Amino acid sequence: MELSGWGKYPTINAEVLHPLTPEDVLRRLRGNLQHPLIPRGLGRSYGDSSLAPQVISTRYLDHLLRFDASSGRLTCSAGVSFADILSVFLPRGWFPPVTPGTKFVTVGGAIASDIHGKNHHLEGSFTDHVSRLKIATVSEGIVECSREQHPELFYATCGGMGLTGVILEATFGLKPIGSAYIDATLLKAATLAETLELFALHQHVPYSVAWMDCLSLGRSPGRSVVILGEHADQGGLTPGKRPRLVVPVDMPSFMLNRSTLRAFNALYYNRVRKKRTDRRLHYEPFFYALDGLRHWNRLYGQRGFTQYQLVLPQEASLEGLRTVLERLAASRHSCALAVLKAFGKGNANYLSFPLEGCTLALDFRLEAGVFELLNELDRIVLDHGGRVYLTKDVRLSAAMFQRSYPKWQAFLQVRKAYGADQRLHSLQSQRLGL
Ligand SMILES: Cc1cc2nc3c(=O)[nH]c(=O)nc-3n(C[C@H](O)[C@H](O)[C@H](O)COP(=O)(O)OP(=O)(O)OC[C@H]3O[C@@H](n4cnc5c(N)ncnc54)[C@H](O)[C@@H]3O)c2cc1C
Repeated sequence: MELSGWGKYPTINAEVLHPLTPEDVLRRLRGNLQHPLIPRGLGRSYGDSSLAPQVISTRYLDHLLRFDASSGRLTCSAGVSFADILSVFLPRGWFPPVTPGTKFVTVGGAIASDIHGKNHHLEGSFTDHVSRLKIATVSEGIVECSREQHPELFYATCGGMGLTGVILEATFGLKPIGSAYIDATLLKAATLAETLELFALHQHVPYSVAWMDCLSLGRSPGRSVVILGEHADQGGLTPGKRPRLVVPVDMPSFMLNRSTLRAFNALYYNRVRKKRTDRRLHYEPFFYALDGLRHWNRLYGQRGFTQYQLVLPQEASLEGLRTVLERLAASRHSCALAVLKAFGKGNANYLSFPLEGCTLALDFRLEAGVFELLNELDRIVLDHGGRVYLTKDVRLSAAMFQRSYPKWQAFLQVRKAYGADQRLHSLQSQRLGL
């Protein structure tokens, strides 16, 4: 069948396997070793990390296995989604410890990308809350691992983009909450420096993110709306409803041009009138604003889009981000969405993305010249000691990857030790020399 990532580029024809049990996963993993194969969850990674001629879907590995209500520890199969977890556990007063900007991701996908949320500065990334994994490996069969047991397999699999084995099961902690609502504060920042100052000033607040007006660059580079939030203790525990709005077909690409995007950005920035606004919001619009519009990726038209997400270390953040914004201002390509977050310390995983500093995510419609622009941004990122997020990537070079992910060779050794190099390859891993 035809498959792509969330960015709708590239699209390939792949054979999709649907194993029903862990043993079935192992049998298929050890099947035809001539065929590159990669695990796939809900396909919310943007590029080509879950694409290969054969794909092993975790769709039917969707069981909640054990829950300890005294500690909040949940054990579930890898195909369980964050939407499933929220529908069962939110009414009981539990929330994922870390969540991305969509709830339509699987636990396996969240671990393989070691996803981060708006609370990375205080609570790290998702796998920092994972204590144990069960993985189907090519040469060693089904292996249980943790920071104590087979630690090299654990650290390589967390953030390992599906390249060590198929995650079957995970145990991680949920966090207790008193309500489905978030007490949010919106702060307007007139410049990039002011945005970073607001992050520093509010570093004790559990959730923070900044939406940046990326098209006001010439006048006030980096002006943004900083959004802070913490779980409220009142308002009830009702989960969100299914989204009703749908983008029915791919939109004509002329709709997202520089003028419409500039108007949209200015509107959003100016819609927040006061320097500070306090609001109580349901968790759905706070965490998952884009989930309210099904198939919103069709807005970018048939050619698709890409998200370029970079991170820069703390000491280089202001200067590096300024340089990136200047380069964008000078380009003819319009970035449709720009989101900035502060990161806390990174972890010991071999290929995890976060570094202590700042991360900026930029959406671009795919058109001639965009990849050349991103190659230039790569050089700025590298010069400032940063790197690019693999789960959003579709065009990074092997050289750039190897220079910015220093543990890639140790990662390759773990791949070899578990026979994964004989079978598990994605379009992305082949491009990156993994
Ligand atoms: C609207 C939107 C907002 C997002 N916001 C954020 C965010 O705030 N922070 C963030 O970090 N990410 C974010 N993401 C990215 C998303 O969280 C990751 O790409 C996540 O990995 C997607 O999960 P999935 O189940 O769809 O995995 P897929 O896209 O299907 O796969 C992603 C990777 O995980 C591997 N994989 C999947 N299942 C398994 C398994 N069982 N065993 C081993 N490997 C497996 C695949 O091989 C692939 O390499 C966002 C994506 C979207 C579309």
